[in-house]
Amino acid sequence: MAAQPPNKKPAGRAGMKKELPEKFRSYKHVWVFVELERGKVHPVSWELMGEGRKLADKLGVDLAGVVLGPKSDETRQAIKETYHYGADVCYICEDPALADYRNEPYTRALTDLVNTHQPEIMLLGATTLGRDLAGSVATTLKTGLTADSTELDVDDEKSLAATRPTFGGTLLCTIHTLNFRPQMATVRPRVMAMPEPDRSRSGRMVWHSLKMDEADIVTKVLEYVADATTDDANLAYADIVVAGGMGLRVPENFRLVTRLADVLGGEYGCSRPVVQKGWLPADRQIGQTGNTIRPRLYIAAGISGAIQHRVGVEGADLIVAINTDPAAKIFEFAHMGVVADALTVLPALADAFERRLG
Ligand code: FAD
Repeated sequence: MAAQPPNKKPAGRAGMKKELPEKFRSYKHVWVFVELERGKVHPVSWELMGEGRKLADKLGVDLAGVVLGPKSDETRQAIKETYHYGADVCYICEDPALADYRNEPYTRALTDLVNTHQPEIMLLGATTLGRDLAGSVATTLKTGLTADSTELDVDDEKSLAATRPTFGGTLLCTIHTLNFRPQMATVRPRVMAMPEPDRSRSGRMVWHSLKMDEADIVTKVLEYVADATTDDANLAYADIVVAGGMGLRVPENFRLVTRLADVLGGEYGCSRPVVQKGWLPADRQIGQTGNTIRPRLYIAAGISGAIQHRVGVEGADLIVAINTDPAAKIFEFAHMGVVADALTVLPALADAFERRLG
């Protein structure tokens, strides 16, 4: 592990040189796990496909998607799209036992595929499902896994360099899996850019059968119950996000944030202390331990701009900060800054946009 301040290029791995054991030398190609849940592919899979394409091109190997699911139109559609987003080959396991996510059959399918076809790199989304699966696959295969990576690259010796924040986000570390294969990493949604699909692309299919009886799987899905504690916030994929921080002082003032978000047709969010105080639910938190966002417009009101918040919003096209303190850290990375009281500026903006947008 090589620690370094944020925004610096990953350090080399001098002094860590080791020969890859003979049994791992045949491992080749880059794989992306395509997360298909209840018939829908999680967009993080396509973001990873874009990143995987870059790694595969650098290594001069194939990019593969891995699609696990029941035999259905949705699974077939996911396979097609895997090529559109850059895969040369798709590894497919269709089985009724893979209809709803359960750790055991998914881990079995993925580890069997890895042992048979031997990829050198495998990427998964750091979603609830991806985190659960990545951990059990890595421990079953006895290999290394870098969770919540924010940058992926291959070094001169063709080793995956997975960078992630450490020590509360004050440092970045670059992690290599030198002696085991595959080299695994998870990446949170919206950390990587979404590639443009090329609908003319197609590729090879490799079928795999799940060697597992339903009777051997201890977990049974009896019923699907949607999570009623969240309000289906789609913060990570919103084009416009308005967020408030502790500068808003009392929970009632968050009405100003939600109103502006409504007027602009966007989503609202907040900094971590707002969630810790119980003013807004956890799925509204933006930052290192919350959502990563990549909107076209991000308006941050009464937010200081701590590094843990910054890493979650840096991908926004336009950041507008409203803060009474001209020395606030947020002005170091905002594209536009308003040194003023958010309690005055937020309603003024909402009124002005309301008049303009009708
Ligand atoms: P404050 O730091 O209290 O800042 C309030 C700001 O409001 C100040 O800049 C002040 O000048 C301004 N202000 C005051 N009154 C007004 C007004 N009337 N109008 C306009 N501006 C005003 N934080 C996150 O946000 N997301 C995370 O995911 C996250 N993860 C973390 C993980 C770890 C391991 C740790 C240690 C911390 C994490 N944090 C995270 C917390 C982070 O370090 C900061 O403490 C937090 O972001 C500060 O929130 P804030 O800016 O709302 O509050």
